[in-house]
Amino acid sequence: MTAASEWRAERNERSRARLERALPAVFPAPVLQHALSRPLMPPTPRLAVESYWRNHVHRADRLARALATRSGQPEGWTWRLGTEKGSGLAATFRMPPSPYREPAHARGPGHCCICGQPVFRFGWHRDLWGTGTPNKNARWHSACVTAWKFWAAPSDQVKVLKAHQHHRCAASGKRLLKTAEIDHRTPLYRVWREHRDAPWPKLLAYWGAPNLQVVNRVVHVEKCSTEAGERAHQRRALVSGVSLDVESDGLMLLPTQA
Ligand SMILES: [Zn+2]
Repeated sequence: MTAASEWRAERNERSRARLERALPAVFPAPVLQHALSRPLMPPTPRLAVESYWRNHVHRADRLARALATRSGQPEGWTWRLGTEKGSGLAATFRMPPSPYREPAHARGPGHCCICGQPVFRFGWHRDLWGTGTPNKNARWHSACVTAWKFWAAPSDQVKVLKAHQHHRCAASGKRLLKTAEIDHRTPLYRVWREHRDAPWPKLLAYWGAPNLQVVNRVVHVEKCSTEAGERAHQRRALVSGVSLDVESDGLMLLPTQA
């Protein structure tokens, strides 16, 4: 046994004892199973839940969007951008819209600021303990934390996404190279431009797995330059007040407001 593995075995023994002491009578079985099989065992139930979602990004992404669907779009809400502190608005269309972060629509303590649903013990999304009331100190589901990070920075999950595609480039079908990159199938600028009024829980799918693909860098560079060309073309059209309708690639430009 090397020094490192000895250290790990000792540490895991302590973590396991701590975890078992803190474990309530009811605890999600898959989370416990996951915790006990980690190379470094999480020492508390909360850390076990966090570790579970961190290692199941796709599941967290699906769950967060399903919970958001349960809440639905708040009445009178529209997707807006803003930089004012405390407005809950994102400064850029690259970030997913989160209506329940806006003071006008926030559901208050014990509710998740991402999906709007109640948060229970350990950041869990279901009341497994029959307490009947959400955890008043919680503002995030553990699953929604993972989903949010994934939506905001999908390139951190390139390994997971590559494996999901069986290491094949989503555009060319060739083997994915080390330099492969994450791409939004529908680029986010087009989501903002063309799908801004889509119902909110559906909007989130543009940041989640349904709109993400890993492509080889050379393919990505080509796609990005085509997109940059489209955007420049549109800017020129807007400047000259001409309305374009480019059907061939699905890019529909609205009549300009003169
Ligand atoms: Zn949530």
